Amino acid sequence: VILERAGAGGGTSAMSGGVLYLGGGTAIQRACGVEDSPEDMYRFLVAAVGPEPDRARIACYCDASVEHFDWLAACGVPFKPSLWPSPAWTPPTDDGLMWMGEDAYPFCDLARPAPRGHRPMAMGRSGWILMECLQRVVSEAGAQTEADVTVERLVTGDDGAVIGLVARRYGSELTIRARGGVVLASGGFVFNDHMLGEYAPVLLPHTKIGTDYDDGRAIRMAQAVGASTKRMDAGEGSINFSPSLMAAGIVVNAVGQRFVNEDVYPGRIGQIALYHQHARAYLVFDEEAYESVPDNLRHGRRPEWVCETVAELEHEMGLPERSLQTTIELYNHHAARGQDPLFRKATKWMRPLRSPFAAMDVRAKRMDGPPDPADRGTGFRVFTLGGLRTDLEGAVLNVDGDVIPGLFAAGRAASGVPGWGYISGTSLGDGTFFGRRAGAAAAAY
Ligand SMILES: Cc1cc2nc3c(=O)[nH]c(=O)nc-3n(C[C@H](O)[C@H](O)[C@H](O)COP(=O)(O)OP(=O)(O)OC[C@H]3O[C@@H](n4cnc5c(N)ncnc54)[C@H](O)[C@@H]3O)c2cc1C
Repeated sequence: VILERAGAGGGTSAMSGGVLYLGGGTAIQRACGVEDSPEDMYRFLVAAVGPEPDRARIACYCDASVEHFDWLAACGVPFKPSLWPSPAWTPPTDDGLMWMGEDAYPFCDLARPAPRGHRPMAMGRSGWILMECLQRVVSEAGAQTEADVTVERLVTGDDGAVIGLVARRYGSELTIRARGGVVLASGGFVFNDHMLGEYAPVLLPHTKIGTDYDDGRAIRMAQAVGASTKRMDAGEGSINFSPSLMAAGIVVNAVGQRFVNEDVYPGRIGQIALYHQHARAYLVFDEEAYESVPDNLRHGRRPEWVCETVAELEHEMGLPERSLQTTIELYNHHAARGQDPLFRKATKWMRPLRSPFAAMDVRAKRMDGPPDPADRGTGFRVFTLGGLRTDLEGAVLNVDGDVIPGLFAAGRAASGVPGWGYISGTSLGDGTFFGRRAGAAAAAY
């Protein structure tokens, strides 16, 4: 029985980009001529989702990633065997495979690079297709879905095992006895200001993304029966710059200094800016860089400043005198030889920046489309990554590290593969992969 608080299923997953981080030699990778192995995928993820990545979880995920892809395909999730080659949040095509920074430093030195972002076939965001297919399979399997039911608390037996739950539908209380286990798969907690204030205050001032039901209620229900949590301060913050334009230009902080190789996975740039640069960032580029990026990859943004010289630009942006000038002098000095000894951006992106120069401020809101009333104007869109501590079968652990009998969790109600660092596709990938395991374990319980 599926208890769904909304009028229909899908949740945040259905509004997401739909990217699943899969690899090790999937059919789509092979069709695109990509060579990959579970070991390379493991090496990449261990480096990308740390610090202190959950190695056992990542190994389990990588070893069975091809099988998980095959399962998704058997569920009818369509993937087009074509590769989108440039950095992008969402490619303007229906290509089924994309890079997630595997070819950028430091990852290219640690593992053989292979694109592993698998997208269900659609123009734009494709999470809805993923969820449509999975929901069809669920209903064909005979599962009963009860919508408009908000689960409120768990019920335990005398021995502490979870034996059921209490829910509410249109003001009436329902009590439900679980013959098997209870699997909590209710999303993260980004729409709960109190929990953000307690656990992840860095995320509090920014634009939250997801559904309102990402309120952490299930995490609290489980805490009430002794569950422990993990990485509750972790969050993703996507930055509102075009990934292709970042790679062609430079990203600097509030004192005009670079802090990252701009060709890496753009979510990583956002996360570093959010957590380590006080959510301040500027994208600086020249006309050639701007022209090199197609309109539909610039997201309709225009620069806030355009100047003939770097000195003028620096002054107009309000940066400390000579800060940006020094950064660009140094960048251009090395770029002339195709090198980036500071941050190791790939040679193909290295080229001296020349007049006229331009810059965008992460805090400016000049995107195409109608204004989003929820946009808090900081330039970062955030969601949470931390959640319940589980074992590899999805069983929720108590504060002593012991299994709470009858209780399982998956998706962003739990801490998973994206423990701290985030790579697009690791949330849906982890949620579906460990969700399957939690379901199987609950069925066997
Ligand atoms: C715009 C956007 C793009 C994204 N793109 C990607 C991407 O491309 N790849 C990726 O991996 N991640 C992406 N993410 C992140 C990812 O979508 C989420 O982390 C993921 O969907 C969480 O899945 P979940 O199953 O935990 O939660 P959900 O998909 O939100 O499912 C939880 C369900 O539980 C229900 N629920 C909640 N509380 C209760 C309750 N008390 N009782 C009953 N039901 C309840 C909700 O209504 C919902 O249907 C994106 C997020 C956003 C917002």
